[in-house]
Amino acid sequence: MRVDIVTLFPSMFVGPFGESIIKRAQEKGILRINLHNLRCFAFDRYHSVDDAPFGGGVGMVMKIEIIYRALKQIKEKIKGTVKVVLLSPQGRKFTQDMAKKLAQVENLILLCGHYEGVDERVREYLIDEEISIGDYVLSGGELPAMVVVDAVTRMLPGVLGSEDSVKEDSFYQGLLDYPQYTRPADFMGWKVPAVLLSGNHQEIKRWRRKKMLEKTLKKRPDLLKEANLTPEDKEWLREIKTQL
Ligand code: SAM
Repeated sequence: MRVDIVTLFPSMFVGPFGESIIKRAQEKGILRINLHNLRCFAFDRYHSVDDAPFGGGVGMVMKIEIIYRALKQIKEKIKGTVKVVLLSPQGRKFTQDMAKKLAQVENLILLCGHYEGVDERVREYLIDEEISIGDYVLSGGELPAMVVVDAVTRMLPGVLGSEDSVKEDSFYQGLLDYPQYTRPADFMGWKVPAVLLSGNHQEIKRWRRKKMLEKTLKKRPDLLKEANLTPEDKEWLREIKTQL
């Protein structure tokens, strides 16, 4: 997958993209990230990318011509289909499902806003989708772009050691993950559930599924409405509810 990021602060990405899973995905050739400094697409000698808002008001607005030029030049270098995403607090709230879908995109361009955001015509004419990472306002689209790239990278085949680990993560199946423990089995009298030490894989699988249901019911009952539940899951949920 190729990801092009248009930003005023390319150096912000160096640390997060140079470590862990994203670093390994790039080394394996599964992910290619290109950072573009928006200022390099500016026309004037001051390399200005923003201007005062029409109608007055505080702050500066990112200019459409510079963004248009950047997107055009980047797209000219890309073969195949391209999806352009604007990071914005006004966008659709980012979910695991959106990460899964974006991982199927061949070429992704992420546009990071700054200041008061972008000229509204960028939304109307230049992008395919607007994504928010939550109902709060950040200073720029850089951190949201990193969040999106991280979540999408985990979904790319071959990136994680085992594909199954993704499937058991929270949200993948519409449920929260089951509780995880590691050695020691007894820490100051705080014991690991005995079933996990039993070696009975069938029982462990059943216990984990029940715990996923229980955790989701307790912490995020809203998720259960959309989750793909088997008749057995529904029966367990009824049991869990009566025990609570
Ligand atoms: N005035 C804009 C508004 O209220 O919609 C907010 C501008 S914000 C200070 C600057 C930039 O940060 C935005 O253009 C966007 O790229 C990014 N940004 C801020 N919060 C975000 C969020 N929750 N999700 C995604 N991007 C965000």
